[in-house]
Amino acid sequence: MSDEEEAPGIESRIPAPDLSCPKCNNLLPNGLGVITCVMCKSQVKVEHEGTRRKWREEKISCPECSKVLVCGVGKRPANLQCASCQVHFVLNPNRPKIEVSCPGCNRKLRMNKRPGEREISCPACETEFKVSF
Ligand SMILES: [Zn+2]
Ligand SMILES: [Zn+2]
Ligand SMILES: [Zn+2]
Repeated sequence: MSDEEEAPGIESRIPAPDLSCPKCNNLLPNGLGVITCVMCKSQVKVEHEGTRRKWREEKISCPECSKVLVCGVGKRPANLQCASCQVHFVLNPNRPKIEVSCPGCNRKLRMNKRPGEREISCPACETEFKVSF
């Protein structure tokens, strides 16, 4: 299933808290800092020290040499360099996944949870349907 573009690098395992837009009550994109609501375009400031700390302490494996590194950076994406093999890579934000059932065949489809309405075509039975979060 093709989805949003992926920057070279690896995905963080720690998501920011799930929050709703205070204006329109739709789900905000996952992240910290100034987040733009995809539905009403209002800008919402999201801060969560606990998440920043977990991000700094997150342990990741270097995509090149598999050495375990401590991220040390309290933001995502984070530009990192492996202390062992010196490779540069990006630690991308975690993208929460969600499961939806296809109304045609009941198959469970896993996808990135992203605010707004999306059209989905089931890979098994080709039923097209819409989901919104
Ligand atoms: Zn909104
Ligand atoms: Zn490395
Ligand atoms: Zn289906």
